[in-house]
Amino acid sequence: MRTNPILSCVIPAYNEAENLPKFIPALVEKLEQQHLAGYEIIVIDDGSKDNTLTVLDGLVEQYPLRVLALSRNFGKEAALSAGLDHVTGDIALLIDADFQHPIDEIPTMLNLWRNGYDMVYGIRNRTTESWLKRLFTHSFYRILSLSSSVQIPENAGDFRLIDTKVITAIQNLPEKNRYMKGLYAWVGFKSVGLQFSEQERQYGTSSFNFKSLFNLALSGLTGFSDLPLRVCIYLGALLAFMAMSYGFWIIIETLVEGNKVAGWATLAAGMTLLGGIQLLFIGIVGEYIGRIYTEVKNRPKYIIAAEYSKDKSILPQPQQRLS
Ligand code: UDP
Ligand code: MG
Repeated sequence: MRTNPILSCVIPAYNEAENLPKFIPALVEKLEQQHLAGYEIIVIDDGSKDNTLTVLDGLVEQYPLRVLALSRNFGKEAALSAGLDHVTGDIALLIDADFQHPIDEIPTMLNLWRNGYDMVYGIRNRTTESWLKRLFTHSFYRILSLSSSVQIPENAGDFRLIDTKVITAIQNLPEKNRYMKGLYAWVGFKSVGLQFSEQERQYGTSSFNFKSLFNLALSGLTGFSDLPLRVCIYLGALLAFMAMSYGFWIIIETLVEGNKVAGWATLAAGMTLLGGIQLLFIGIVGEYIGRIYTEVKNRPKYIIAAEYSKDKSILPQPQQRLS
């Protein structure tokens, strides 16, 4: 049984000015009820366009809050990385600012950690989502699990409790294209899933539209699988085989029936089909090259424009950590 930990909450916030004034007090109230050696709350303002930062300025005066303001909107995955890089506790809780991740699950998650699990990941039931979105996500996870060597659990989101040893392992991964759900699975450690009902967003709308979800899925697929590249090879080989067989057929036909000028339609259709497939394959290869280019440029995952808290001394310092 592990002792009482220092808990660091990591909250990415993009345009959450309406949610934060309610969410932070509710979270603090919950944390106060747990048997913790200490806690800190890190809110990452991910270049919000509303007055999230002003709201945070006010909240910092009342709560043990640490604010990291990114210099622009870097996206949720980068915001989470920024938060994880600044954690000083023994364990970190990743939680959204919009009440969709139920804070009532925190005691259960803490108990699982106390019982020896290094990572507790929330598995959401997608009852609030449309059947079309559920179909897409299910298909995505099927393809990913068939083609990737690491098993990324279906419907496991960012709502999770992570031990610092897992965080250190994740920080040591150098890649810039960070599909976090994949990275959590890749590093391993003793993990357990916890079912939870996702709540409705309290205020505002989701920042993830179809396009951003598609991009996220693409970075998951290209980051954790080379299936798309292999599909190109297999399909290319199949088409080459079909073309050779057709060529062979033409030779036989010419020998038997003489040279008839026919088959223009087949030829034209074949050429356009091949052209299309080639372009598609170049696109897939390009996608990987694009990602290699991003890695090679070696730009930071995020830039912090400002970092502040009311009184640094209320925050647990690294030397105070429990071993
Ligand atoms: N978020 C972020 N940067 C972004 C988009 C979202 O930090 O570019 C935060 C957002 O404030 C929220 C969490 O990530 O706390 C989840 O975002 P959202 O609710 O929009 O997504 P969904 O719940 O639909 O997955
Ligand atoms: Mg949400």
